[in-house]
Amino acid sequence: MSPEAHLRSVPDPVRARIDGAHHPVIVVGGGQAGLSTSRVLTDRGIDHLVLEAETAGHEWADRRWDTFCLVTPNWQCALPGFAYDGPEPDGFMVRDEITQYLEKFVASFAPPLVEGVRATSLRARDGRFEIATDRGTATADQVVIATGPYQVPRTPRMAERLPDSVVQVHSSEYRNPDQLPAGPVLVVGTGQSGCQIAEDLHLAGREVHLATGTAPRVARFYRGRDCVAWLSDMGTYTKGIDAFPDVEAVRHKTNHYVTGRDGGRDIDLRKFALEGMRLHGRLHRIDPEAVHFGPELRANLDGADAVAEGIKDSIDAYIEANGIDAPVEERTAPVWAPAEDAPSELAVSEIAAVVWATGYGRDDRWIELPIFDGRGYPTHERGVTSQPGLYFIGLPWQYTWGSGRFSGVAADAEYLVDRIAETRRGTVADGLHWLAGTPSSTFPSDDDWVAPRSAS
Ligand SMILES: Cc1cc2nc3c(=O)[nH]c(=O)nc-3n(C[C@H](O)[C@H](O)[C@H](O)COP(=O)(O)OP(=O)(O)OC[C@H]3O[C@@H](n4cnc5c(N)ncnc54)[C@H](O)[C@@H]3O)c2cc1C
Repeated sequence: MSPEAHLRSVPDPVRARIDGAHHPVIVVGGGQAGLSTSRVLTDRGIDHLVLEAETAGHEWADRRWDTFCLVTPNWQCALPGFAYDGPEPDGFMVRDEITQYLEKFVASFAPPLVEGVRATSLRARDGRFEIATDRGTATADQVVIATGPYQVPRTPRMAERLPDSVVQVHSSEYRNPDQLPAGPVLVVGTGQSGCQIAEDLHLAGREVHLATGTAPRVARFYRGRDCVAWLSDMGTYTKGIDAFPDVEAVRHKTNHYVTGRDGGRDIDLRKFALEGMRLHGRLHRIDPEAVHFGPELRANLDGADAVAEGIKDSIDAYIEANGIDAPVEERTAPVWAPAEDAPSELAVSEIAAVVWATGYGRDDRWIELPIFDGRGYPTHERGVTSQPGLYFIGLPWQYTWGSGRFSGVAADAEYLVDRIAETRRGTVADGLHWLAGTPSSTFPSDDDWVAPRSAS
């Protein structure tokens, strides 16, 4: 027997669950969003299969740096039927604890999960969905896409202009300072990842240049509590996106920077500057000799602070309106400001490495259905698309602030499984042909039909 023939004859239990199989529901993606959907489907007794390209929860295990910890407090980890019940609800789980939390979640209900299977195309055919994978093709009545909000690391093409002597990594590949060669590191981007990685390098004593953007910031604590706790009480995290006038602006805006490291603290870039970090405006251009930054540093720092102060104002107003007894906290003046509002540049020869914390894009090209907008973003309402039976979960601001995070995914899963169950009931009702009378096949066919003789 040839080796290939031998391999073919070995039963493949994963392939058997996929190739030629039909499932009422297929969930694509086994991160927290896909698993939450699976948990709610399981609780409702709805038969389904979860396809995961790598391993369940792999984003947390494999695409975070060594000192990574949550920015959101542990009590916000409230997956369906599996709220965080550890010893530190106000703490911030580190990477390995998050991974364990997800592993325990999986063990708590044993989802019908197949790992190492990537969905490669999704089509609608003959009233069903057809999902091709690298282990065969399955069909489903309904499909939930849970492939993650941050899929394809995005690096600007100007990166190609840096010489090979400069080591470049995207934030998803960054692990620790020792991974980068000795010498100054340029971090590009001040979203959550950029600020935290810049801090990680700074705390390790590395010389850091940080190209800032317009991301806002939020204080960690204010008036005796984590700002997240105040904002939660104020209903911020459960407010539906339909309450905002500009849905697109809300959906695509950058997150506020802050950290959960060492029990949680502010990220104040001005303080880093006092301690020696070199802050710049936006990275505008790279030429053979130098990288060039724009004149936006002052505006970027002021803008981030204005948002943080505005959040404090709204907390003050909430405390006052509700007569809450909370300690008063003085506002402090900025500890540093750029000397001049001017462009700056940095010689390429002075840079040992660049960390691109420039975000992620989606790649939904494998979904061959007409549901996308002009920029390739899935159109939907609370995750329900215009293609009957097709849903998304885990999109940032799918419905609330918590949708793309641990805190809101359970509510979204409940909502979608309600829709899935309704659609199933519709399917079952459609199948009850006897309700409409005797099947027409027992009558003469139309060709044989003759008009009855008139009674008159
Ligand atoms: C740096 C960073 C920090 C964050 N910090 C926080 C935080 O502090 N608190 C918080 O609540 N949230 C945080 N988030 C946001 C969010 O919780 C995570 O992004 C989380 O991973 C989203 O879960 P998910 O299940 O939607 O997607 P993912 O975890 O990305 O899971 C998607 C899964 O789908 C699989 N997949 C993709 N394509 C296919 C395919 N074609 N076929 C089969 N499988 C496929 C992937 O392998 C992956 O396992 C953070 C995100 C990032 C990037």
